[in-house]
Amino acid sequence: SGGRVYNFSAGPACIYEDVLTTASSEMMNWENSGTSVMEMSHRGKEFMGIHAKAIADLRELLSIPDNYQVLFLQGGASLQFASIPLNLASAEDTADYVTTGSWGAKAIGEGKKFLKNANEAASTKSSGFTSIPATSEWSLSDDAKYVHICANETIQGVEFKTDVVPANGAPLIADMSSNFVSKPIDVSKYGIIYAGAQKNVGPAGLTVVIVRDDLIGNARADCPTMQNYAIMAENDSMYNTPPCYSIYMAGLVFDKLNKMGGLEAVEKVNIEKCAHIYDAIAGSDGFFNCPVDMTCRSAMNIPITIVNEDADKRAELEKAFIAEAGDLGMVALKGHRSVGGMRASIYNAMPIEGAEALAAFMKEFKAKHA
Ligand code: PMP
Repeated sequence: SGGRVYNFSAGPACIYEDVLTTASSEMMNWENSGTSVMEMSHRGKEFMGIHAKAIADLRELLSIPDNYQVLFLQGGASLQFASIPLNLASAEDTADYVTTGSWGAKAIGEGKKFLKNANEAASTKSSGFTSIPATSEWSLSDDAKYVHICANETIQGVEFKTDVVPANGAPLIADMSSNFVSKPIDVSKYGIIYAGAQKNVGPAGLTVVIVRDDLIGNARADCPTMQNYAIMAENDSMYNTPPCYSIYMAGLVFDKLNKMGGLEAVEKVNIEKCAHIYDAIAGSDGFFNCPVDMTCRSAMNIPITIVNEDADKRAELEKAFIAEAGDLGMVALKGHRSVGGMRASIYNAMPIEGAEALAAFMKEFKAKHA
């Protein structure tokens, strides 16, 4: 409505329209405070209330156990790639990384700067990042301080479908940037869960970190203050000025997800949405392809290619696909520059009608161009 499109961007991504409407109606004067949320002191009672409610609502949504802290940080998921070794390990220590795509590769790359041994326990790079290796195949270290995974690879569209348990007993650290609050998970199986907000949660600028108590308070002496989980936890994530407006928007989203019936209800719709698109690929007689193994296809990010032996013809068709979809109000379908093709990101806030419209368009496009 209002000239808005179906936005398939990988992030920043679409936000629930009713959340945008609420934010817009509260913009000039939040709850008779006489100011917008952007203009409030982060130490005032109004914003402190917004902050506390956002955390409480996220705790309810994910059933976060009491022995975990919720931190609202900045610097993106990318800064966590460094914060994790700085808080959990010394420079002489070992940590294990499982690499299933581009983001996991970045995480171990950063880990190598801060650890004597950032061990790649498993990698699917040689097969093009299209699968999840079984935990039994991970070459874990006995002395690992943690095991890091990327729960959903945003670029390759590869997703862990269950909560896994590393056999070495080390805390599992998961980058959930692109499937955070998209389905129920068992938080107690993780040492740390972290996610940038700009996909399923709201505007960019906020990084959510859920960390188990025993992993707080062990930071290196030279860990920057702003990256130290203990300092952030002691100060309620308000050691300095937090990203106030992003926290407010995230709070509106968490509240909405709880009112929708929580993550079981959210997951049900997400499964239905991605099925429309995967079915369109499967039903295209080989015109479209998704390279990802059936067992770990992401419900959030769907890479789609057009199959054609002639590379020029393929590029031309993919370009036409993106242009024709755009004419119909379906935007941001271009694949990541590193992999090419198309990609449909269908986070929580993508309405089912958007997924249906894309599936219908795929059928038409194939009929016209096959
Ligand atoms: N991890 C994953 C899985 C991502 O998708 C992204 C962003 N696309 C990042 C990390 C980096 O996040 P940020 O831009 O918030 O640093």
